[in-house]
Amino acid sequence: MNVLPLPGQPVSYWIDSTLKIDYPSLSENISVDVAIVGGGIVGITAATLLKRAGKTVAVIEADRIASGVTGHTTAKLTSLHELIYSQLIDKMGEEKARAYGESNQTAIEQVARFVKEENIDCDFSRTSAYTFSESESNVETLEAEYKAAASLGLPAHFVRHSPLPFPIAGAVRFDNQAQFHPRKYILSLADKIPGNGSYIFENTRVKTVEEGEPCSVVTECGNLTAKDVIVATNLPILDQGLYFAKAHPKRSYLVGGFIEPEKAPEGMYISLGERHYRSIRTTPHNGQTLLIVGGEGHKTASVDDEEQGYSRLEEFARQRFGIEEIQYRWSSQDFVSFDKLPYIGKLTPASNHTYVATGFSLWGMSKGTLSGMLLSDLILGRPNPWAELYDSTRATPFVSGQSVKNNFDVATRWIGDRFKGLDKTSLQDVAPGEGKLVTIEGEKVAAYRDEQGEVHLNSPICPHLGCVVDWHDGDKTWECPCHGSRFTCDGDIVQGPAVKKLGAIEV
Ligand SMILES: Cc1cc2nc3c(=O)[nH]c(=O)nc-3n(C[C@H](O)[C@H](O)[C@H](O)COP(=O)(O)OP(=O)(O)OC[C@H]3O[C@@H](n4cnc5c(N)ncnc54)[C@H](O)[C@@H]3O)c2cc1C
Repeated sequence: MNVLPLPGQPVSYWIDSTLKIDYPSLSENISVDVAIVGGGIVGITAATLLKRAGKTVAVIEADRIASGVTGHTTAKLTSLHELIYSQLIDKMGEEKARAYGESNQTAIEQVARFVKEENIDCDFSRTSAYTFSESESNVETLEAEYKAAASLGLPAHFVRHSPLPFPIAGAVRFDNQAQFHPRKYILSLADKIPGNGSYIFENTRVKTVEEGEPCSVVTECGNLTAKDVIVATNLPILDQGLYFAKAHPKRSYLVGGFIEPEKAPEGMYISLGERHYRSIRTTPHNGQTLLIVGGEGHKTASVDDEEQGYSRLEEFARQRFGIEEIQYRWSSQDFVSFDKLPYIGKLTPASNHTYVATGFSLWGMSKGTLSGMLLSDLILGRPNPWAELYDSTRATPFVSGQSVKNNFDVATRWIGDRFKGLDKTSLQDVAPGEGKLVTIEGEKVAAYRDEQGEVHLNSPICPHLGCVVDWHDGDKTWECPCHGSRFTCDGDIVQGPAVKKLGAIEV
């Protein structure tokens, strides 16, 4: 139970600072060239490029455009992904590492081009990205990363000082990267999609996609046919490609508070660290400057002190930047691929018309843009220099240490959580504001008691693949420890891959 109140209002700054938009739900059976399931950065980038190329498209979004991970990101647009290049060179060789750097740099320029061509007002600015450490013991690693990146022709430097208001031991700096307001950007691109046979549908959850000639997209509001389908739901809602076993969900937290302009550091930052890394940037807001600090990431449902993550970020913002009040707190999760590369391409080797993009490992502003570019090229039959590198059907290291551990964790939770604590906890043990797995008449039940004392009961079995959900105290959601689906206290879906809500329990 929380002892101290959590800082700020529980909403993403990007969502709070943009107007609500309102596209209709699907209400008739329609047919388009390309159906795109999911209106995040992948879906809207692909839709924009395909429509520009003369295709009719329909974006089908379960909730609202740019309200998923893209609405909860930090929105640093960079090819400096913490530490990646020395590992890629070691594991895959220089050619692939160079292609990774080039493709992400190209994605940054694609965003810049859209912003210019469409005159998008989204606080886009060029700035440097830093991966830093305050500890001398990491300097050698940072220097190695700098040398690897520079050898690939990336705009890398090694520095001992930065604009941060505290000393660092060293940093890799990439110049001419960018930051932006992700929702202003996506909503503006989305605005150009409907019309001339193209559509955006919101509040329309896709239940499944049946590949064929044409493909059928089955939604809760009716069906839609399309020659090709892009499943851009962050983790694909379709299980055939086994992406749920080739990537794992990683949750990360953010807080935002206004900073005095003279204390605001120029640039975007991430520090090294397993969990207690810090991701830092600023953004303009009505003549003021908001400092955003992120971190405390962990594999979904793998820690017991999620709510403390927000408090630790608040403390960091106060101590290091003199932030007096935290205005916002939010969190989300992205999928980490086992070989560090995203999966972009066909759903399975046998698919002819169904495409996916996932596994951005919390760097999907560039990789999501890249996915939209690559998938639109595949559908248009255009050559793409990175199609092979990111081929979603490539042989992946199912047997890497990390993947074995993750899939072992899933198996243990699938079996173990069903019996854990059975008969030990009852409804009386659930305090106001708390969620717990309790036993009612011999059955495990997900119980939440709201602040008014009313109890909300749901089946604890995730409708995706049957794992038992866990309570997330910081965000008041149920979440699946296996594949990352998240649900409200009433069982509604917050995040897939689940396409059905938690089952209701009547007592
Ligand atoms: C805390 C955090 C910070 C991050 N910071 C950065 C950063 O600074 N830089 C960076 O490059 N990356 C960052 N990332 C990663 C980046 O935000 C994501 O990789 C990217 O936004 C993913 O985009 P997407 O389009 O795949 O997913 P989403 O934006 O989630 O879009 C998928 C959409 O599909 C919809 N959907 C799901 N199921 C269905 C269904 N059944 N039917 C219809 N629609 C459905 C969802 O509602 C959602 O809108 C961060 C991630 C996190 C979690």
